[in-house]
Amino acid sequence: MIGNFVYFLARGIMAECARKGEKMERIERERISGQEPVEAGMADGQEPEKTEMAGGQEPESAEMAGGQEPEMAEMAGGQEPESAEMAGGQEMDGQAYDRMRLEIDSLSRNEEFARVVVAVFMSRMNPTLEEIDDVKTAASEAVTNAVIHGYRQKPGIIYIEAEIHGQMFTLTVKDKGVGIGNLKKAMEPMYTSDETGERSGMGFSFMEAFMDHLEVESQLGKGTTVRMKKKIGG
Ligand code: ATP
Ligand code: MG
Repeated sequence: MIGNFVYFLARGIMAECARKGEKMERIERERISGQEPVEAGMADGQEPEKTEMAGGQEPESAEMAGGQEPEMAEMAGGQEPESAEMAGGQEMDGQAYDRMRLEIDSLSRNEEFARVVVAVFMSRMNPTLEEIDDVKTAASEAVTNAVIHGYRQKPGIIYIEAEIHGQMFTLTVKDKGVGIGNLKKAMEPMYTSDETGERSGMGFSFMEAFMDHLEVESQLGKGTTVRMKKKIGG
């Protein structure tokens, strides 16, 4: 019984490593062939342009960090009227539209929770297993970054938004943590600010490789927003 569990766990870890290995080779090939590894146009000190995720509200950190159950109804109460309509699975521009929002405490254990919720939400797009794994990996990297780097393991709220628009899946992970001073450098493959030797500096590269589009906005002292898109199917 335990033997079986260890066997499947080991197989899962090996499969994940192999997947990441393949993507890393692709990143390296692209890098050598002179392509820019990350999206341009994210200059330091730039004012974040998108504010809709925060909705202008301050998170009720004190209440939520106190270990209480988040009051979902209350949190949803801040939506604009049109959002409620769209969340009903209605159409936008003639295409199916759906959206979910999730606010979680910045805790390492919430990383798995977040990636599973994102995967379950995207499952209504009938994705392949590989597509689900890709999105889960990207979500995991972004949430882990928010916990470790954004909030530096201190209390905070991570805002996750997922959107389905036709075949396009958009995932946004936002923190109101320390922010990134030199975004271009931070997004270079193998760059890490970690000095413990535990991190490899590949999080952003994985997000870029596993998704079709990656966009990062960050401001020192204000926080970081990571937005990724992936076309599902076809
Ligand atoms: P790995 O993801 O391989 O464990 P890493 O987290 O250091 O290592 P990336 O995810 O690529 O690598 O991030 C690169 C660097 O960007 C980080 O070391 C950190 O300095 C900075 N960074 C990333 N996300 C955030 C964030 N949300 N807030 C503040 N800094 C961040
Ligand atoms: Mg990382």
